[in-house]
Amino acid sequence: MDKLIEPSISIEEFYIELIENKRNNEKNNFLKNRLSKIKDVLISEEKNYIDLAKTSTLHTIVEHTEIQIPKSSDVVTKDEMESLYTQNLVSSPNSGDRGREVYDYLKSLALDKMCPYCSITKARTLDHYLPKAKFPTFAVTPVNLVPCCRDCNSEKDASFSNAANEMFIHPYYDDVNNFIWLVAIVEENVWPISFKYNVKISYNQNSLLSNRIAHQYELLDLNSTFSDKANRQFRYRLKSIVDNYNSGDIEAEKFSY
Ligand SMILES: [Zn+2]
Repeated sequence: MDKLIEPSISIEEFYIELIENKRNNEKNNFLKNRLSKIKDVLISEEKNYIDLAKTSTLHTIVEHTEIQIPKSSDVVTKDEMESLYTQNLVSSPNSGDRGREVYDYLKSLALDKMCPYCSITKARTLDHYLPKAKFPTFAVTPVNLVPCCRDCNSEKDASFSNAANEMFIHPYYDDVNNFIWLVAIVEENVWPISFKYNVKISYNQNSLLSNRIAHQYELLDLNSTFSDKANRQFRYRLKSIVDNYNSGDIEAEKFSY
C-alpha cells in the first residue's frame, strides 16, 4: 500500500475561488453568501482533521448532515456541499477552473498513477476518505481527497464504517511500509504450484493498522486477487521454461533471466 505525499494545498488557498465559480443569479448568490460564511469553520475543521489523521483517530469524528453557519440559525446542507464538490471541484477536464486544477493536482499525488488502496488499478478518480454524504464538512478538503480507482471508491463508500478497526489505511498519513503485514505461502500438495496471500495481524507492532489492513483486504477481496495474479504469473513463467526446454533452446532460457 503506497504512502502518498500529503497535499501541499489547504482549503483556505482556493475555497473562495471555488464558490465564486458559480454563475451570478439570485439562487446562486444566496448559496455563495452562505458558503462563504462557513469558510472559517472549514479551515478550523481541516486542522482538526490533520491532527486526528496523524494519530489514526479520524474514526472519532461524528457523522453529520449539515454545517452550522456561525452566528446564525441557518445551515449549509449535505446536498449543497456535495454539489459544491461535484460541480465546482470535479468540474470538467480542461475547463481551466481553479477547482479542476486542485482536482487534477490531487489525482497526480498517486504513485505511478496507481490506486493506493489496492495497488493494482489506475487511480482515475478521487475518494472522500471520510465520505461526503456522512461528513459534508470535508467534501472539498484536500487532505480528505485521495486518488483511487473506481472499484475501491465504490466498494469503500458502499460499506463505510467508522469503527476503529474498520477504517481504511489513510494513504497520506498511515505509513504501513515499516512492518510486515502481508505473507504469501505456497499451498501444499497442489499442482500446479499455487500461492495464497494473507494479511498478518502484528499485535506486537501496530495492531490497529494491521486490523485495518485486514479489513480493507477482505472488503476489496485483495487476498484472492493477489493469489490469482501470482498464480497466473507463475504458470506463465513455468510454461515458458518448459517450452524452451522442449525445443532444446536452453540458451534462450538462460537469457530470459
Ligand atoms: Zn483500487
